[in-house]
Amino acid sequence: MQGSVSAEPMSKREIIDRADRFWWKVLGELGTHHILTHGLSFDDIYEAVIYPQHEVILERNVDLGVDDFGVPILGQYLPKEMTALVDRKLSETGDPRLPSVSWHEAGGHGVLQGKYLKACQGRIRKLCDTDRSLRLIENTFELQANTFARHVAAPMGLVWVTFQRVFGISRKIPFCGPRVYMLNGQKTYAASPIDLAWKIARTMQHRFGGLSAECLAYQLIQIAVAYEGYDRGKLWTGNQADTMGSAIRNLL
Ligand SMILES: [Zn+2]
Repeated sequence: MQGSVSAEPMSKREIIDRADRFWWKVLGELGTHHILTHGLSFDDIYEAVIYPQHEVILERNVDLGVDDFGVPILGQYLPKEMTALVDRKLSETGDPRLPSVSWHEAGGHGVLQGKYLKACQGRIRKLCDTDRSLRLIENTFELQANTFARHVAAPMGLVWVTFQRVFGISRKIPFCGPRVYMLNGQKTYAASPIDLAWKIARTMQHRFGGLSAECLAYQLIQIAVAYEGYDRGKLWTGNQADTMGSAIRNLL
């Protein structure tokens, strides 16, 4: 639906800087104590910052149907209306993708790209996201939205503080090869550094509004796992290797 329109030129550093500036607004509205006490919640931040300060409307009670290939549409963004849509099934079924899709649509397409997309509204009527398109890396609109969404949904500073609090340590956990690791008294097998990050993420995701362990793992692999001499490996979710694993390596 975006035809040949290019995304606004932005380096990864610029996107992360904009995510940081967004976070100062969040801290100003919610306060550090609230966040450390209650954790992060997309809904809190939407009501405190995204809607009042960026005027992005969110609707999660819509049927978005399927795309031209019959693949279910999870989210959609309407530039003219500055409206982020999330398919109602995600809410109704308690789908773990709900926080990530909400952040992608309202945060990435809305907060980050909203003004630019609105200026392009004559040429871009809507952006549609399926499970597949959310993982595309060659589409710059999606790549930008995912990068921003990840850094606002799980800011590095907060991930690090939360990691230290949950595990009671202030150093990285060393990956010493595929074996059983002891995480807070629980024995857990990790096949690779990113797998270890994913296992750590599962113990922390409730502090980030139920954000997917996959999203958190990509932050944790940088700050919570020491893996010198080892390839970081692929992230396995369910029965399939996550194709985003190797691709995302280039984004971080
Ligand atoms: Zn998108």
